[in-house]
Amino acid sequence: MNTVIESTQATSINDEQKTRIIRKEVQLASKEIREKYPILKHQNAIGFFIFSFSIGMIILSAIGYLQGKISVLLVVLSVAFWTSFLHELEHDLIHFMYFKKNKFLQNVMMLGVWIFRPMTINPWFRRAIHFHHHRVSGTKTDVEERGLTNGESWNIRRLITIADILFGGILRAKIIRRDIIDAVKSGELSKTQALEFKRIKLYGMLPFTTFLYLIWYFFLIHYAVLFVTTALHISYQSPDFITAQFKWINPLVAILIFPNLFRMYCLHFITSNMHYYGDVESGNVIQQTQVLNKWYFIPFQLFCFNFGSTHAIHHFVVNETFYIRQLTASKAHKVMREQGVRFNDLGTFKRANRYFEHKVATA
Ligand SMILES: [Zn+2]
Ligand SMILES: [Zn+2]
Repeated sequence: MNTVIESTQATSINDEQKTRIIRKEVQLASKEIREKYPILKHQNAIGFFIFSFSIGMIILSAIGYLQGKISVLLVVLSVAFWTSFLHELEHDLIHFMYFKKNKFLQNVMMLGVWIFRPMTINPWFRRAIHFHHHRVSGTKTDVEERGLTNGESWNIRRLITIADILFGGILRAKIIRRDIIDAVKSGELSKTQALEFKRIKLYGMLPFTTFLYLIWYFFLIHYAVLFVTTALHISYQSPDFITAQFKWINPLVAILIFPNLFRMYCLHFITSNMHYYGDVESGNVIQQTQVLNKWYFIPFQLFCFNFGSTHAIHHFVVNETFYIRQLTASKAHKVMREQGVRFNDLGTFKRANRYFEHKVATA
């Protein structure tokens, strides 16, 4: 055991140096690309353009579907694809990447990225848990990632609740709450921070996030009952007032609810497997994440703006926009690989996100 601890500490010194090397190279790559393409200096305008264009495409897809010009499959794929840009914008906005000095436009964008991605937590609330994620990634109080199944063994529960932050959140609330109380007792987490998390849990999904999840469950139950009664040849007719509601529920599910849940499934599958958990050394960025960029992840990456390939870069250099991160990814990956950041470590699936093999037995 001593050998393990000693070798871990030795790695930690090296890892700090490695982290500095990666940071320097990634920042240099960003600087070079900004010099090469001066248009990239207009960060606010670019952000607002991506914001407006993505929302325009979502509205256009919805109109196309409502007018019967595109199929349900196409509207789902299109909305899921364009909302993945809004997800990246939300993350950039959380890090104050656009309209830093214009609070009004910054808040307009925050509201926009939430309204079109309404199955997610309020972005103003998310900021606190996301900043905390950067501070303590991979530890017990990293509620942002733990809320998305990170650190759990792979089973049916993890598979089903990966996209559903309301039902999944309720299922794992007790254990996360216990860990937060323990962290406050041990001094790992301040009481103010713990109360902030509690406030987010209580109010972060109000008003329309919770409302839309309830609509979704109602939709699922309704069609499950119809399916089962039909399969078993049981005579059953939904009351008229319930059937009438599906005139607006069906299009809402097709245009907004299902595409977002599908997109979140892709994103959460990637993010909850590329972050390590449970035995990550405090503050060791090398151990916090891995890069998932093999071809078989493409179906997921398509709906989360290549998150598996680029999010690890963000852990090293936080203050950069998502599109620059994408443009500089090959240079970043080169130095990350040289410095020992893991790539496509599929062992994480059987280690429940643990970084080290020897810790699995105690997980
Ligand atoms: Zn992260
Ligand atoms: Zn971040």
